[in-house]
Amino acid sequence: MLLDYTKLKLNLLIDGVNPENENLIGRMSGAGPTGGRYFLLENGSCVNIPLWTKNSKYSRFWIKKFDDQNNLFQLFDDKKLITTLKLIPRPKFYDLNTSDNIKMSKIAMLHGENCLASTIYQKCIYWSQGKACEFCGIELSLRSNSTILEKTAKQLSEVLDKSIKEGVCEHMTLTTGTPNTSDKGAKKFMPILKELKRKFSVPIHIQLEPPENQIIIEDLYSSGADTIGIHAETLDPLIFHKICPGKSEIGLKKFKEIWNYSVEIFGKEQVSSYLLLGLGESLESLQKGAHYLIEHDVIPYIVPVRSILETNFENVQQKNFQQIYNLYKDVNNHLKKHNLDPRQNKAGCVRCGACSIITDFYNIKIESKNEN
Ligand code: SF4
Repeated sequence: MLLDYTKLKLNLLIDGVNPENENLIGRMSGAGPTGGRYFLLENGSCVNIPLWTKNSKYSRFWIKKFDDQNNLFQLFDDKKLITTLKLIPRPKFYDLNTSDNIKMSKIAMLHGENCLASTIYQKCIYWSQGKACEFCGIELSLRSNSTILEKTAKQLSEVLDKSIKEGVCEHMTLTTGTPNTSDKGAKKFMPILKELKRKFSVPIHIQLEPPENQIIIEDLYSSGADTIGIHAETLDPLIFHKICPGKSEIGLKKFKEIWNYSVEIFGKEQVSSYLLLGLGESLESLQKGAHYLIEHDVIPYIVPVRSILETNFENVQQKNFQQIYNLYKDVNNHLKKHNLDPRQNKAGCVRCGACSIITDFYNIKIESKNEN
């Protein structure tokens, strides 16, 4: 029977893999979906597999390395061999230093197959107010000294240069914790964007909360950002308030205003929002939120949330796998119905695709490769 790689990818994103017996190392904490490593499935799709989360150690999936040279692993579902995975190797630039003597892996890391990603400011006002998003690990990597508080344009430019020369970078994701300013960190992005765009032609994705003044979105675009992520995580106000006590104070009305303005400035398919699976929201409500975004030309990047170690967050166990898969299928049909193609996204998470199966449905032709 043909293996449905899109279903397998979703399974791996939700359940993770028990990495026991394989001495893999990786990003244990920080912003976004951490606690995993990136693998290529046999159909060429990249997946950010949770290896070090609260759930992954109980996963029925496990791996066994069988080809050191090519980083190939066998993937087992309990006792059954399922397929082969290719690990994206740890890039060499990680062990280089910037001209101010900072290890480059503390400035930016490789995400997915070819996305250089960095958190330009590693603190968030909500952490200091005790209102952090429950699933977030942004300040944990600072505490573990695996990164530094604030990255400069010069440091990021040096790392980008090395990653391009090593042939591992084709686009970039820059995210930020939220400082206590009405621009939500936008002004920290601008000198970095201008410097990187002055030297490189790599498309750049930025992520931040909705700034109070929408003009800032124009300034970010004219500074050189190609795509933007304004992440609400959910469009259910009760869940939003419960899971993101600080961020939800902005209100979904502001998110909607800034999404609309961002689509005007960046263009359709270049604006996205994470919607997290496993926050306790019903699938119907999540579907409604995704449809709202699509009908406003914003790409809903639906990602199974992770229970990152050292956070108090326990994601809500996903029992109804087939319903979740059908939700993704429905959202994909709605994207097509509204002529919104995530493959047109120039940079960042939507282009990378490692944390979601939102784009995998489009790669139907890839699936057929298995018939040979
Ligand atoms: S989808 Fe985004 S967060 Fe996930 S690996 Fe890719 S760049 Fe990183």
